[in-house]
Amino acid sequence: MNFNLTEQQEMFQKSVRRFAEAELTPLIDVMDKENRYPFEIRPKLVAMNLLGIPFDPKYGGAGADYASLALAMEEVAKVLAPMAISMQVGNVTADRFNKLGTEEQKREFMIPICEGKRVVCFAFTEPDTGSNPKMIKTTAKSAGDGYVVNGIKRFITHGTFADAALIFAKDDDGDISLFIVETDRKGFSTDKKMDKLGLRGTELCDLIMNDVHIPKKNILGGKGKKFDALKDAMTIGKLCLSAQCVGLMQASLTEAIRYSVHRMHFDHPIFDLQAIHWLLAEMASRLEAARWLTYRAAFLKDQGMDTIKDMAMTKLFVTSTAVDVVRWGMQVHGAYGISKEYKIERLFRDAKMYELLEGTSEIQRELIVKRLPR
Ligand SMILES: Cc1cc2nc3c(=O)[nH]c(=O)nc-3n(C[C@H](O)[C@H](O)[C@H](O)COP(=O)(O)OP(=O)(O)OC[C@H]3O[C@@H](n4cnc5c(N)ncnc54)[C@H](O)[C@@H]3O)c2cc1C
Repeated sequence: MNFNLTEQQEMFQKSVRRFAEAELTPLIDVMDKENRYPFEIRPKLVAMNLLGIPFDPKYGGAGADYASLALAMEEVAKVLAPMAISMQVGNVTADRFNKLGTEEQKREFMIPICEGKRVVCFAFTEPDTGSNPKMIKTTAKSAGDGYVVNGIKRFITHGTFADAALIFAKDDDGDISLFIVETDRKGFSTDKKMDKLGLRGTELCDLIMNDVHIPKKNILGGKGKKFDALKDAMTIGKLCLSAQCVGLMQASLTEAIRYSVHRMHFDHPIFDLQAIHWLLAEMASRLEAARWLTYRAAFLKDQGMDTIKDMAMTKLFVTSTAVDVVRWGMQVHGAYGISKEYKIERLFRDAKMYELLEGTSEIQRELIVKRLPR
């Protein structure tokens, strides 16, 4: 067993930390207050190679590992969690092309995603369900030399400005297949941007497809059985989300310590109170457990193992722990914690979002129980 990061991972972690503090701090209000995605940051994300971390440089990647992906997510989320979500969209969609794409699709989509030249969103959820694949209603029916896609996708991150969408749809046989739909095709439109509680500025919206014709070459990974592709894609998504929650927890602990050292109770800082010790100690311990569970999950992914159960356990534990840890951080702040003047208010709103993304906590429990030995 080796709990140390490699020299390369440590260097990467430090460089992302410096980048996040310097370049992302000024963007907090743009994303959180204005609920707007700051495009101007994209060349800098690309220069840092943050949109294709674990992929071969031949396809635009950084040639790093999943542990580095997790480290980058943690560092970015410490400063600005919705920017880490944006990086996640790049890495998850690039991963689908890496795993399932033809050489032509990799050239046309994966390389431009990693190089920040194309944004591709990932679209599974629909108005009637985000949890149960059998309930999806979007269809892609054969027509001439291609397919005709009809349906609505809901809560799609970066939907407002994506150049293309990876759409999970039912094919002629009722199986789920994965299709690439460029957003400038006739019949494709989006609804208004969602105004939401946390992780603001990621620009969520509905994608509406009304008889959208796509060519045959726009199927990704062949016909049918793409529920497995979804589960596999979600293991990377869950790793990213868990690492982001670790970043949120670290930021909350830092804020809680800083506040408690300066806030006076009679002549002493509240940091000296036993009740505050208990909160800080719980926060620090849960953070450490969550961090190592996440790093272990990244390690398993780097070994090429099937991580569906481990990622579900990690995501379940880490996201619910983040809600507790950030709430305790807020408690340390007393009534000031609910003020927008304090960072903990934003961390609190952001933390709640993670229990819903990439499968709710209830769905993670189902995934875990199905895989327990009987
Ligand atoms: C910030 C944000 C970004 C998102 N980005 C994307 C995106 O880019 N692409 C995308 O496709 N989706 C995206 N989503 C959607 C997200 O994945 C879904 O919201 C999520 O999967 C839950 O789906 P739902 O809201 O339809 O809930 P439902 O599926 O309607 O579930 C409602 C409730 O019932 C429970 N439930 C449902 N089925 C079961 C079951 N079988 N067993 C036990 N409990 C069950 C759920 O846990 C939940 O508590 C995003 C969501 C958010 C909040």
